[in-house]
Amino acid sequence: MEKIIDGKAIAEKVRSEVKEQVKSLNALGINPCLAVILVGNDPASAVYVASKTKALQEVGMTDRTFKLAEDTTQQALEDLLDDLNGDDSVHGILVQFPLPAHLDSQRITDKILPQKDVDGFHIQNAGALVCEKDSFIPCTPLGILRLLQETGMETAGKHACIIGRSHFVGRPLSILLSQKPWDCTVTLCHSATKNLSFFTKTADIVIAACGRAGLVTGDMIKTDAVVIDVGINRVPDASKKSGYALKGDVDFESAAKVASAITPVPGGVGPMTIAMLMFNVAKAAGRG
Ligand code: NAP
Repeated sequence: MEKIIDGKAIAEKVRSEVKEQVKSLNALGINPCLAVILVGNDPASAVYVASKTKALQEVGMTDRTFKLAEDTTQQALEDLLDDLNGDDSVHGILVQFPLPAHLDSQRITDKILPQKDVDGFHIQNAGALVCEKDSFIPCTPLGILRLLQETGMETAGKHACIIGRSHFVGRPLSILLSQKPWDCTVTLCHSATKNLSFFTKTADIVIAACGRAGLVTGDMIKTDAVVIDVGINRVPDASKKSGYALKGDVDFESAAKVASAITPVPGGVGPMTIAMLMFNVAKAAGRG
């Protein structure tokens, strides 16, 4: 097993597979298309949307990006979703979160048709995941599963400790890893967990998804554990032009000395999230 799990290279492999799928779909007269909706002026969201549309173009998919004003009403956004739900040339719909505070995110999420919900956030897709039915799996957990698969490690019977129980990352991942074929024994930790290192130290796989820069240090993990760092945290750094550096939830330097394999930040989970979005759009187009 390689020490550094190269998310960039694995994401590139996924994108190549998706490119081939797009060619097959094109031959059937299907042009996979994702509608991306950005509301407001959040700079980080604008960066995420730009990288998603770039990736769509690279794999030969069509993107339809809607940039809506900060004061867009709930009704206007729901009307747009109704239009896109009814448009057969649109296979997937993604609303970039977070939305401005006056908008009801859950209602917006559940307004998207489940078969176009390529983010896998719709309550119907979340329920299908729990019941092990075919569904759209949220892109970050799906990307982490692929990273683990690519390491070639046997996960059955292993103890996976996940830090963070969000609906989009930690919780779905905990359910997936407990299911076949992964068959892990899962511990799901959160902010009320007492003595976090008690759990991480016995884990064969540690997955940090808590948004706390450097929370997991080398002394908290067992020798030869596999460490997946989901966190993306902006930490002030005067040496950078931007004034900040991107740091994970894991202290890479100390953890890398103990782990058998570890993802870097950036270049680990991040590229996989976008690659799996492409995978989900191709799946939606293939179903349509
Ligand atoms: P979130 O919704 O803020 O959830 C954070 C979770 O971490 C919560 O469950 C919280 O517990 C838990 N937590 C916070 N502090 C903790 C502590 N000291 N000890 C143990 N648990 C703690 O975050 P998210 O959306 O899941 O994202 C997590 C991180 O991953 C963020 O840095 C985010 O930017 C990053 N992320 C990266 C990608 C990617 O593609 N690489 C994708 C998504 C997210 P409570 O539930 O008790 O509050």
